Amino acid sequence: MSRAIELNARHTPGFEDRVARTLALLQTAAAEHPGRIVLATSLGAEDMVITDLIARHQLPITLATLDTGRLHAQTLALIPQIEARYGLAVQRWQPPAEQVIVFERTHGHLAMRESISLRKACCALRKLEPLSRLLQGQSAWVTGLRREQSGHRAEVSATELDEAGRTKVNALADWSWADVWHYIQLHQVPYNPLHDAFFPSIGCEPCTRAVSLGEDFRAGRWWWEVEDAKECGLHVSQVPQNLVKETA
Ligand code: SF4
Repeated sequence: MSRAIELNARHTPGFEDRVARTLALLQTAAAEHPGRIVLATSLGAEDMVITDLIARHQLPITLATLDTGRLHAQTLALIPQIEARYGLAVQRWQPPAEQVIVFERTHGHLAMRESISLRKACCALRKLEPLSRLLQGQSAWVTGLRREQSGHRAEVSATELDEAGRTKVNALADWSWADVWHYIQLHQVPYNPLHDAFFPSIGCEPCTRAVSLGEDFRAGRWWWEVEDAKECGLHVSQVPQNLVKETA
């Protein structure tokens, strides 16, 4: 058995109800937003569970990911795995190549370590700008945010409106980490092998490390920053255009 499954998978009371509620939520959202709903997948464990539900129940929800150009090889390797296993295409949305070149030439390859503002500028360029294009024409998007993931996410509701007025479906809002891994074990869902190496939350390669025993879920993300700054903006607000322009 894999290490992540061995350490995390646990059946807890109410698991079947949570799965049923998530499925109903996804079915309703897909029916209410025909052809205009997308799973913005990070390819992390939660989004793999949602991907499996979409495929298993043939839900008309598009799969799309932000290929920032700095993802781990193990993360990118999941894309062909998903396509082969489920027969579903995964759209890859990338940042504008020229702006990336200018940003790196101006600020260096590890600019994100220099200051919080440069880190946020990098996230704006590599994540928020492609996300804004990914969401164009969509009226709803699905995420794997869970309340348990961090203090910032403790109030996440199952559905909400984003700043552009789109419906945001947080399909696993009330799931625990044990639920996620129990589902993965139950359905043999493919997942990122970095989870077996103590990476619970996986982002870009330069901005993610393994966590130690007792550290919290997102301690391995931007670990050099203070806790309050540690969101990339994907689930905070829409694209701050000034940040994108600052990098050009
Ligand atoms: S997570 Fe790191 S590398 Fe990725 S976009 Fe943000 S700052 Fe850049």
